[in-house]
Amino acid sequence: MREFGYRRAVDVAGAVALLGADPEARFLGGGTNLVDLMKSGVERPALLVDVRELPLDRIEGTEGGGLRIGATVTNSDLAAHPEVRRRYPALAQAVLAGASGQLRNMATVGGNLLQRTRCGYFTDLAAPCNKRVPGSGCAAVEGEHHNHAILGASAHCVAVHPSDMGVALTAFDAVVSYETADGPGELPLEAFYRPVGDTPHRETALPPGALITAVTLPPAPVAAHSRYRKVRERASYAFAIGSIAAALDVRDGVVHDVRLAFGAVASRPWRARAAERALTGGVASADAFAAAADAELAAAKALPHNGYKVTLTRNLVVAVLTELAEEAAR
Ligand SMILES: Cc1cc2nc3c(=O)[nH]c(=O)nc-3n(C[C@H](O)[C@H](O)[C@H](O)COP(=O)(O)OP(=O)(O)OC[C@H]3O[C@@H](n4cnc5c(N)ncnc54)[C@H](O)[C@@H]3O)c2cc1C
Ligand code: SF4
Repeated sequence: MREFGYRRAVDVAGAVALLGADPEARFLGGGTNLVDLMKSGVERPALLVDVRELPLDRIEGTEGGGLRIGATVTNSDLAAHPEVRRRYPALAQAVLAGASGQLRNMATVGGNLLQRTRCGYFTDLAAPCNKRVPGSGCAAVEGEHHNHAILGASAHCVAVHPSDMGVALTAFDAVVSYETADGPGELPLEAFYRPVGDTPHRETALPPGALITAVTLPPAPVAAHSRYRKVRERASYAFAIGSIAAALDVRDGVVHDVRLAFGAVASRPWRARAAERALTGGVASADAFAAAADAELAAAKALPHNGYKVTLTRNLVVAVLTELAEEAAR
């Protein structure tokens, strides 16, 4: 591991200035991803700017019934917050479905969104990987890819984003706030992650050196009737091979409002807009849920060993929406 410096930032402007002064510096949240990547040699920062002492650890209500979540709120505090559990239950469930209790106590909201892929070749310094070394190739396309992308990928990279939290935040139209030396900015989460294209190493639209300060959830009454379901290869402490965040508002058997996002299918949490359009205003039935899933998954492109994800995601849509519709009818 390369020798590195460590500074603890105490205010936002100071954190941004410290990072800006050293092109090889990185922000340090809980360190649960970054430090692992430093140990494996994928990341080699010269300086870590610790952001955990910044005054960004609050969850506050916004006008109209939304929530503003500070970037250094830990995953544990986010999942336990009574207003998160009441207004956006799928978000609390998604966070609790990730990692372990100890990791969630350390991991922060900002770090979770910026965690890197779990593609095995990304951390194997001997393998070609366009995300780690641009232009070197992608070992996964012809290699081990059973947990890789079926939507939105390119021949340059087929990795998936590992965040559970990000899937629920995407379903609820979260907006990321950040600070740079030139001032503050905002990005809707759907625009936060860049398309893969031929630049898989450039993962987000954040300006260089930007510090994430908060994530804001707009008011969404439908989110109170939401669920996160994660499928994984063992019952705990494992990343998703498929997941869904869903919210449903059914009135007199008709879909009044619906939110859907998928995890483990793309380089970013995948908002299922085509499925939402197919469902809105129609009858809430298992057949309609299946047809909506098919509408979204028509764009899926499976590799030889990950075609099961198409069926898995379709089944998740039908199962979770059916449960939510049955609960609404009670
Ligand atoms: C064994 C294990 C199992 C896991 N299982 C899951 C799982 O099932 N589901 C899941 O979603 N996650 C899982 N995780 C990942 C875990 O959730 C992430 O490692 C964690 O959320 C990252 O947060 P952090 O604060 O520790 O980030 P860090 O490791 O500190 O940082 C990650 C990245 O974000 C940057 N960064 C951090 N904060 C900011 C900020 N405020 N502004 C700008 N940049 C910032 C850092 O520079 C770095 O590039 C697992 C991790 C481990 C080790
Ligand atoms: S899928 Fe992406 S992360 Fe994995 S080897 Fe290919 S380029 Fe690298």
